[in-house]
Amino acid sequence: MIPLAVPNLRGNERAYLNQCIDTEFVSSVGAFVTRLEGMGAEVTHSVRSVAVSSGTAALQLALLSQGVLSGDMVAVPSFTFIASVNSISHCGAVPWFMDIDGDSWTLDPFRFANELGAKTKKVGDDLIHIETGRRVAAVMPVYTLGNTADMDAINGVAAEFGIPVIADAACALGARYKGKAVGDLADVSAISLNGNKTITAGGGGLVVANDAKVMDFVKHISTTARTSPEYDFDMVGFNYRMTNLQAAVACAQMERLQEFVDKKRFVRSFYQHAFEGLPAVSPFPVPSWCDSACWFSGLVIEEADHAFMVELCEKLKDDGIEARTFWKPVHMQPPYFKAPRADDLTVTESIWSKVLTLPCSTGITLGELEFVAESVKKELGY
Ligand SMILES: *Cc1c(COP(=O)(O)O)cnc(C)c1O
Repeated sequence: MIPLAVPNLRGNERAYLNQCIDTEFVSSVGAFVTRLEGMGAEVTHSVRSVAVSSGTAALQLALLSQGVLSGDMVAVPSFTFIASVNSISHCGAVPWFMDIDGDSWTLDPFRFANELGAKTKKVGDDLIHIETGRRVAAVMPVYTLGNTADMDAINGVAAEFGIPVIADAACALGARYKGKAVGDLADVSAISLNGNKTITAGGGGLVVANDAKVMDFVKHISTTARTSPEYDFDMVGFNYRMTNLQAAVACAQMERLQEFVDKKRFVRSFYQHAFEGLPAVSPFPVPSWCDSACWFSGLVIEEADHAFMVELCEKLKDDGIEARTFWKPVHMQPPYFKAPRADDLTVTESIWSKVLTLPCSTGITLGELEFVAESVKKELGY
C-alpha cells in the first residue's frame, strides 16, 4: 500500500531519542525542547516559539493570548480541519463561519469584510455581532494545504474592525507570503507537528509570534502558570507542554525541513504535470502571493460529487494506493450545525466534494508517483 502521508524518520531521530534515555530527560523539560523552540523561532522568523502538545493546543493558547474569552465569537473559514474550530470552542467561544475564495481555498477577505460590515457594530472598543450580541474577538485565517491566506488583505480588514489575527498555520511550516515567513504574517500563529504534517514530533505543536509579551504569556499559561518553584500559580494554566522525547524527534525533523518542503513541492508539480490536459481535472491551487509549503497534493475533479470520490478512493485502494477525500466543511458537522455563519458559503460547499488527496509523503519515490498517476488515469477512464 502506498500511504497518503507518513513520517520520514531517516535522520537523527533515533540518536536523539537515545540521548533522551541516556540522560534520563524524557519529560517536559530538556535540551531538545529548548533547541526546538529556537529552531521554530528561526524558521518562522519569530522572536520566540513555544513547543506544546498539539496543534490544537497551540491554536487554543494563541486565541487566549489575544484575549478571546468565553462567550466571544471568532470568525473562521468553514473549509478547514475541525481542530481549528474546536480550539475556538475550547476557549468557550463560538465560531462564525466564513467562506473561502475559489482560487486559494483560504479565507476570502472581501466577503469577510462585507460580512463584518453588514452584521456587526462598534460599541466602545468592542465589535459586536448585532444578531447575537456577542463580541467578535478575533479572526482565524487557515493556511489550507500549506497555502498562506492573503494576509495583507486580511490584516487590513482586521485592523479596520479592530480585531486580532490568529493564523492556523498548522500545515504551513515552510510557507512564505510575499517573501515573508509565517511568524511575520499574523499577531500569533499556530503550527502542528502531528504525524501527517511535513515534519512531525509524533504529536505536538508550536506557537509563534513576533511579540515577546505574547510569547511569554503563551509559555506561562502552557506550563501551568507557575510563578515560583514553591507551588505558586497566578492563573488557571494548562499542562500543554511538549516532552523532550517529542522534541528530540522534532529537532531531527527540523534539520531536514527544507529538504522535505522541496520534496512536497516536487510532488505537487509532479501530479500537476501528470494530469495536465485531462478534461475536468485540475491541480491543487497555489495562489500567486505565496510560496506554498504544499503540505498535501492531489487533484480536483470538476464534475465529481462526494459519492463519486468515495468510490474512486475505494478503487485506488484496490490498486494499493491510499487516496482520501478532503475536509468536509465544519458547518456541516453535527457539533456545529447551529453555529452562526455567513449567508453565503457557496465556494466552501462546492469545492470540498471535488477534492482528492493523493500519496504525498516526503519519502515517496518517483516510481510510486508514476504508479499513482497511472492508476488515477485508469480509474478515471483515461
Ligand atoms: C493538522 C491541523 C490541525 C490540528 O493539529 P493537531 O496537531 O493534529 O492538533 C489544525 N488545523 C489544521 C489546518 C491542520 O491541518
